[in-house]
Amino acid sequence: MKNVRRKALRWALANAVDHEGRASPNAVMGKLIAEMPELRSKVEEFRAIVEEVVEDINRLSTAEQLARLREFGPPEAPRPERKLGLPELLDVDKYLTVVTRFAPNPNGPLHIGHVRAALLSHEYARRYGGKFILRFEDTNPANAMLEMYDLIRRDLRWLGMEWDEEHIQSDRLEIYYKYAEQLLAAGKAYVCTCDAPDFRRLRDRGEPCSCRALPAQEQLERWRRMLASEYAEERAVVRVKTDLKHPNPAVRDWPALRIVEAPHPRTGKKYRVWPLYNFSVSIDDHEMGVTHVIRGKEHVVNEMRQRTLFEHLGWAYPTAVQYGRLTIAGMMLSKTQTVRGVRGGEFSGYDDPRLGTIAALRRRGFSPEAIREVILDIGSTPVDAALSWETLYARNRKFVDIRANRYFFVANPVKLLVEGVPELSEVRLRLHPSDVKRGERVVPLLREGDVLTVHLASEDAANLREGEMFRLKDLMNVKLRSRGPPMEADFHSLELMDVPKVQWVSAGAVGVEVIKPDASQEIGLAEPAVAGLQVGEVVQFERYGFVRIDAAEPKLTTVYGHR
Ligand code: GLU
Repeated sequence: MKNVRRKALRWALANAVDHEGRASPNAVMGKLIAEMPELRSKVEEFRAIVEEVVEDINRLSTAEQLARLREFGPPEAPRPERKLGLPELLDVDKYLTVVTRFAPNPNGPLHIGHVRAALLSHEYARRYGGKFILRFEDTNPANAMLEMYDLIRRDLRWLGMEWDEEHIQSDRLEIYYKYAEQLLAAGKAYVCTCDAPDFRRLRDRGEPCSCRALPAQEQLERWRRMLASEYAEERAVVRVKTDLKHPNPAVRDWPALRIVEAPHPRTGKKYRVWPLYNFSVSIDDHEMGVTHVIRGKEHVVNEMRQRTLFEHLGWAYPTAVQYGRLTIAGMMLSKTQTVRGVRGGEFSGYDDPRLGTIAALRRRGFSPEAIREVILDIGSTPVDAALSWETLYARNRKFVDIRANRYFFVANPVKLLVEGVPELSEVRLRLHPSDVKRGERVVPLLREGDVLTVHLASEDAANLREGEMFRLKDLMNVKLRSRGPPMEADFHSLELMDVPKVQWVSAGAVGVEVIKPDASQEIGLAEPAVAGLQVGEVVQFERYGFVRIDAAEPKLTTVYGHR
């Protein structure tokens, strides 16, 4: 901690000298964490130190600050090592604390593209010792899904994110109503009862409809009638006034609240006037003190709309960070198609291995760290980026290769009889090739007299020619006598030889089903130790791939991750 104080002092002085004598705790935090990423886990503790140091430094005169900075030796500040690769957030010194939010719509499962907003927002909040908010944006009763709230919470926790506050928009309608009323009373919004096509025609010409100029009293009366169910759906909508000549017609007098008759899965029929996204998001970002809105650039037009509302209410718009599109080749990412497919039975669930959902990646045994790293590496760049399964596999291998224990498994087994084998009843193999401490597993052998029975994977068996020497991996070298069936071979020797190696199983092998990424199933046999694995464990079936144990009953089932 002494080291931290010294480094904090260094950064606070440098920051103060750059900013007319006033250092910002956020800026110092950012520099420190970039320099010493290990501090992330103790952010609370050292934020206090940073604040103390900054306060002291800010009391000094600029000349004193400069003099003390010089005492630190080389005039240039040491370049922090950016382990996380994320650039500093803009405007951090403008705010007391950094507040970010992740605002998912609970109308479908999160996929790897969605969690970019979450991971970046969370990461930045932690980096600056700020606050990270989770907010469910469920103001469309027609598509909010009850099961998604918990699934989203689970996915975020699994990815290592905890939030400091949680809000659900469907609990906040009175707040939105209050602002709607305020805007109507101030002549900054109006209740439009025009037919949508008529309104659009006028809007596209930059002209007002007849509702726009009605006096505030009349607007409030219409609003009362909206709330009192005196209009049918689509017969009345609250619009926020904007410049009618705005270059983008989609921004002009955008709709803010509307009537929806469908019951909401959480609040039932309690409310029928619902805010639209741009309205509720603006009110909430302001009310919750969000300082940085981090989202995809598909929201540029929305941001323009939201800024008009902030202006009406006299609020400052948060700092906006817009990242580019992320395409992921060969991954099904459409929420609508996912939900439809699951409801229609085309997908087995939100964790169907064909999907790019977080639930599917978890089920395939991906490690949350790998997903986190891959997404944070892409960062918040406004440039469009492409991610491939291969990138994800390579990153994941970095984590699972060391964790996963090894087992023998043969897909589509083919029987092989080996004659003339010496007296052996089992073989002991390491659970992990490079980690001796993990111990061994016992692979029993099925022997009758001097005949050993094993099973090979059909793909390996198909490649063997009569007369060829090969090695039953970690066991013995044999020479194929006949392709059979059954295949027959003669024992040759035990010591390692430079011949092709094949995986095998023998006594007590257990039937295993493997669900592949395309949802097809492969049947095989695994060594008996596999029967003792827990659901959720990720192991490597040697020379086959990493798999996650998905179910033990009624049949041992695994889901394939990758090679
Ligand atoms: N609920 C919005 C979405 O999921 C949030 C977008 C935003 O960050 O404002 O697209």
